Amino acid sequence: MTSRKAEDPDQPAIIEEKIVRVNGEIAVRQYSKGRFLGKGGFARCYEFCSTETRKLTASKIVPKASLTKSRAKQKLMTEIKIHRSLHHPNIVGFEHFFEDQENVYILLELCTNQTMNELLRRRKRLQELEVQCYLQQIISALNYLHAHKVIHRDLKLGNFFLSDKMEIKIGDFGLATKLEFDGEKKRTICGTPNYIAPEVLDGKMGHSYEVDIWSLGVVAYTLLVGKPPFETSDVKTTYRRIRMNSYSFPENISLSEPGKNLITRILVTDPTKRPTLTEISNHEFFHQGNSIPKLLPPSTLACPPSAS
Ligand code: ADP
Repeated sequence: MTSRKAEDPDQPAIIEEKIVRVNGEIAVRQYSKGRFLGKGGFARCYEFCSTETRKLTASKIVPKASLTKSRAKQKLMTEIKIHRSLHHPNIVGFEHFFEDQENVYILLELCTNQTMNELLRRRKRLQELEVQCYLQQIISALNYLHAHKVIHRDLKLGNFFLSDKMEIKIGDFGLATKLEFDGEKKRTICGTPNYIAPEVLDGKMGHSYEVDIWSLGVVAYTLLVGKPPFETSDVKTTYRRIRMNSYSFPENISLSEPGKNLITRILVTDPTKRPTLTEISNHEFFHQGNSIPKLLPPSTLACPPSAS
């Protein structure tokens, strides 16, 4: 949709995937590398077009040189293992992965409308109807993930991709984990999740599905207010605020009582006191008599729905 950064000139324009058949024959699939889509911790992401089927995908290219530490390799393997097992309309589709001498390539469903980060940067903040529509899609994906014992652990605007149809697709399973059993508690997260829950900062008690619920509350606040609730200019102060549950609703922004109530009920320090996904879906915020659209028009990428 908008212009992207220039393509990396060091990467060849045709990428070859070698497939060894059971009879030992080697077949080659080719992809032409197109637009640069963006860059993450290790990966650079490009549009790939299969020369055979003409199908477009988003390909995350991870240099093997960045995987020398066994922890980094393990993390990528976990990301692939978890992501490839997931199939839901609001989760970025995992197509396929392969490697050559230099890189690992992860081919994903292409999301052409960037992420909610760029959306919010353009729009500043969203209307309640839009937030209701987006949260319902995120809740649907989270219901699926948690039913499959997967905790995403890094839910943030930059990991909510938007498809050409304006569906939300949760992506980046780099910090995700799959529980062996329901009561299991996780103790560590490698990396720094943006919308981190207080029990993760505490570390002692362990954490579970409720960390995703917390992040959902942070996401709701951010979309309605225009900035995250605990944001400060340095991470330590932000973490202190999260621990103290110190945030407020700005007076110059008009928010509905149900909106404020939902956020207040989610952002509680004790994870066992947070609402479940079902309780969130049944909350008054989603039942205010207006009909929530399944999808929003692409015009809302730049302008509020009432102005479109
Ligand atoms: P990392 O795991 O290294 O952080 P990301 O998953 O965040 O990498 O991807 C890096 C960037 O690539 C994203 O910010 C986005 O711009 C782009 N990107 C990733 N996945 C897709 C996709 N499915 N469709 C379109 N762009 C994508």
